[in-house]
Amino acid sequence: MKLRPIGGASIPRLTHPRDPVIFRGGDTLHPRRWRPPPDSNPPMPIGRSLLLAAAKSEALNQFALKSRVVKRATKAFMPGEKPEDALDAGAQLVKDGRRIIYTKLGEALTQLKDADAVRDHYLWLFDQIKARGLPAQVSIKPTQLGLDQSESACLAHCLTLAAKAESVGSALWLDMEDSTYVDRTLVLYEAVKAKHPSTGLALQSYLFRTPKDLERLRPLKPVIRLVKGAYAEPASVAFPKKADTDEAYYRIAGTMLEMAKTGECTPIFGTHDVPLVGRIIARAEQLALAKGRYEVHMLYGIRSKEQQRLRAEGHAITVLISYGDAWYRWYMRRLAERPANVWFVAKSIFG
Ligand SMILES: Cc1cc2nc3c(=O)[nH]c(=O)nc-3n(C[C@H](O)[C@H](O)[C@H](O)COP(=O)(O)OP(=O)(O)OC[C@H]3O[C@@H](n4cnc5c(N)ncnc54)[C@H](O)[C@@H]3O)c2cc1C
Repeated sequence: MKLRPIGGASIPRLTHPRDPVIFRGGDTLHPRRWRPPPDSNPPMPIGRSLLLAAAKSEALNQFALKSRVVKRATKAFMPGEKPEDALDAGAQLVKDGRRIIYTKLGEALTQLKDADAVRDHYLWLFDQIKARGLPAQVSIKPTQLGLDQSESACLAHCLTLAAKAESVGSALWLDMEDSTYVDRTLVLYEAVKAKHPSTGLALQSYLFRTPKDLERLRPLKPVIRLVKGAYAEPASVAFPKKADTDEAYYRIAGTMLEMAKTGECTPIFGTHDVPLVGRIIARAEQLALAKGRYEVHMLYGIRSKEQQRLRAEGHAITVLISYGDAWYRWYMRRLAERPANVWFVAKSIFG
């Protein structure tokens, strides 16, 4: 198999798709050791589906973590692996009035004792946020705090972190993971939100169930970050077509804005879809909701100019900065969101 050179760079030649690929610098990838899982969702575009399947591969994970060139490519989406890298990057971003959310990468722990270390890390991070005077919050994945091993231990960790967040004038967010976690994450959120009102939760517009979940949370006056959803989900639970997910996003966003009008929701829109953000802002204006009653959150390194433009126009903009060495699965989801990014990675590997 022959690959076409990008920008004149020399590209390793594969004699057979299953032959190992040896990259400049000596990293070796053995495609033989990797198989996409059988549950790939056929209606999903092939690029996205392959990348999300690859996200589950332990062999590719091990390869990527050891590869200096792949690591270099992640720089587009994360300032560095160390928390200090993230804190320093945040200190730069806040200069134009953007705010920050930090998240340490890592999910699906296999041992409950590892969750204690994650909790302790975030306790330390909240102290750093306070010491540096940063307008920053923290977002966790429930499986990073032991949800798979013990729901009660995970709740205890979340309560500890939410209390700490409050004590330093910050707030805690719960990310939403794949659809098998939604029920447990809602229960977790209800328990934490009841004691710590500033706590936020991500909901995903690609899931059919999300409008009902939002209604269920309404009495709690939830703080909701609406996202489209980053996981490979079966057509029985999520829209296979992106256009349907986008329209569902706009509909749910409208409900959240109406809820905000009556004080029943703090609406946050976690998306880089700038035309969609424009439609949501227009809807907020129709409802006479002032800027600042809703926010837009984007990821570090994505649509930075649009983040600055929206901020300059007076909108509340927050940037989610990830750090940590467990970046492989997260990074593959970022590539899957925009398969064109694969070319960008290829360029940094081969160029
Ligand atoms: C703050 C925040 C928190 C999130 N939390 C969660 C969560 O808890 N659970 C969850 O499932 N998902 C989460 N996500 C991810 C989300 O579900 C989507 O996968 C992701 O935001 C891409 O969708 P989009 O809304 O940006 O729209 P899309 O329609 O996918 O993208 C719109 C445009 O944005 C640009 N863009 C989008 N992604 C990229 C990228 N990776 N690289 C370069 N350009 C890009 C492209 O120009 C694209 O055309 C979060 C996203 C954000 C911004």
